Amino acid sequence: MLVVMKRDATPGDIYSVKEKIASMGFAAHEMPGAQRVAIGITGNKGKINPELFNLMSGVEEAISVSKPYMLVGRDAKPDNTEISIDDEVIGGKELAIIAGPCSVESYEQLMQTADAVREAGAKFLRGGAFKPRTSPYAFQGMKAEGLALLREARERTGLKIVTEVKDVQTLSAVAEVADVIQIGARNMHNFSLLEAAGELRKPILLKRGISATIEELLMSAEYILARGNKNVILCERGIRTFEPYTRNTLDLNAIPVVKKLSHLPIIVDPSHGIGMWDCVSAMALAGVAAGADGLMIEVHPDPPVALSDGYQSLKPSKFRELMEKVRQVAGVVDRSVAAEVTE
Ligand code: PEP
Ligand code: MN
Repeated sequence: MLVVMKRDATPGDIYSVKEKIASMGFAAHEMPGAQRVAIGITGNKGKINPELFNLMSGVEEAISVSKPYMLVGRDAKPDNTEISIDDEVIGGKELAIIAGPCSVESYEQLMQTADAVREAGAKFLRGGAFKPRTSPYAFQGMKAEGLALLREARERTGLKIVTEVKDVQTLSAVAEVADVIQIGARNMHNFSLLEAAGELRKPILLKRGISATIEELLMSAEYILARGNKNVILCERGIRTFEPYTRNTLDLNAIPVVKKLSHLPIIVDPSHGIGMWDCVSAMALAGVAAGADGLMIEVHPDPPVALSDGYQSLKPSKFRELMEKVRQVAGVVDRSVAAEVTE
């Protein structure tokens, strides 16, 4: 159930509603919005009588929510969520551009990529230090050493760091370095990890599972919000279909659908979505046209020697060209992209 407060409800009114929920033995989740606050109730087994709240001071109405993702849904918060990371915002007018290598491989590789993507206008550097790989014999990432390099890259460029957490054990080490913690497709159903991420207040980039439905993605996000972390960014990165030619099928349908169902920002990862570097730009532009709040693009200074995902990585020069086109498409859908850095 959601208790929707009046626009002029006082902090005291909100407090009283939360107290009442607590006294019933349930959990209260305050969802502040631009126009009004809603308070979600979880932990109840049966239906709650709305009349218990309807007569309280400052309450507009108590409504039962039929969707299973109450906190993530638009009922709880009609206006879009904007996530602030120091001076950057994800979910606002400016698109969040996240670029960098699939894996952190070396000092030179990371710094060269970081400099290049910063100059092209990206504000976030991606790079995995803990890599979830299909084969146990494939490169598993530089781990702690990789995190140290990411920290150095942030100091050098000012770029915000987006890096993946693979398990609960390494979450605190990743959280120390990451500005945005990535939970990958393979971990979208790792509920212990989602719960642990929900205890943090750092932004979480939650990627759609390889065969997850849109509703399952929203339910996984609900796990994080239910623990109090409202800073979740969703990511469409392609799903497995019967088409074997491309690595995945980028489900652009998910963008307007998620926008309709949820207030959370959603970005597109066309690199994993299609899996071929020469097709990445087309799908990146399509993602922006479909209303995505940002892009995650794999960039590598020398893709053929990359230790992971080289075949889908753009060279820095191609990334710069893509950014020019992204600026044009962004303008058409009333979004903007940071300019190139020329100094
Ligand atoms: C990645 O971002 O490099 C990655 C492993 O992505 P995904 O979880 O979407 O496969
Ligand atoms: Mn990758």
